[in-house]
Amino acid sequence: MEYQAATDLLAGKTILVTGAGAGIGKTTAITYAKHGARVILLGRTVAKLEAVYDEIEALGAPQPAIIPMDLKGATEQHYRDMADTIEGQFGQLDGLVHNAGALGVLGPFAQIGEEMWDEVMQVNVKAQFLMTKALLPVLEKSPQAAIIFTSSGVGRQSRAYWGVYAISKFATEGMMQTLASELAGSQVRANCINPGATQTNMRAKAYPAEDAAQLKQAVDLMPTYLYLMGADSADVNGQSLNAQ
Ligand code: NDP
Repeated sequence: MEYQAATDLLAGKTILVTGAGAGIGKTTAITYAKHGARVILLGRTVAKLEAVYDEIEALGAPQPAIIPMDLKGATEQHYRDMADTIEGQFGQLDGLVHNAGALGVLGPFAQIGEEMWDEVMQVNVKAQFLMTKALLPVLEKSPQAAIIFTSSGVGRQSRAYWGVYAISKFATEGMMQTLASELAGSQVRANCINPGATQTNMRAKAYPAEDAAQLKQAVDLMPTYLYLMGADSADVNGQSLNAQ
């Protein structure tokens, strides 16, 4: 996407990014902070979140916050408590990026184990549902809030051996569409981004034999992540955009 974001595009906004310790989530959190946002870094590996925190502090950007959470085990009550903490501590939430994701094990449909099914659906679908549900009342208080879901090419057209990951990404697109239809005309909007092939740990796991140097880097996707989070996309709701 050709989009040049103003340097203060996200000034005054508080934005939660899940899976902010690595890959696309890390770059998104740092990019939002560079554009003026106070970012809440959510993830399961505290050391990685702390490293991102330090990087943002060193930039002189608004002080971030860390929420350690493993989406695999989190319950509805955890998300309610998190919403209370965010509202109590920051008084607002203007953006939510559902970025954390689990690839699971790729392979034949008939070999998808029930445990693997549950784990991937929990992290990629149920966690997004429960988190969105808990945070909507806070987001609705913002004059202009944006929710971004993370889809995938195999969430629009599946392929052999992409198993529960692909199925979970179809569910993500469906969740975004359902929510966006209900939010139409309100001050909260919901959209999806399909990052496309991007140099990260997850991509390396899915395509161990490819030359990662040929892939786009997370930073190349940021115009789309900035566009959908900022005021320039205030009228965009229910869309699924490609970042590449
Ligand atoms: P990475 O594996 O590099 O990063 C994923 C992040 O999610 C990590 O910070 C990871 O934490 C976190 N995470 C994973 N599981 C959990 C969990 N149970 N609880 C909390 N946090 C968790 O992946 P990408 O950056 O590549 O992927 C980001 C998103 O983009 C995903 O939704 C993915 O499906 C999607 N995507 C990526 C593509 C690509 O080519 N890279 C293409 C299409 C879609 P930790 O570091 O601690 O493991």
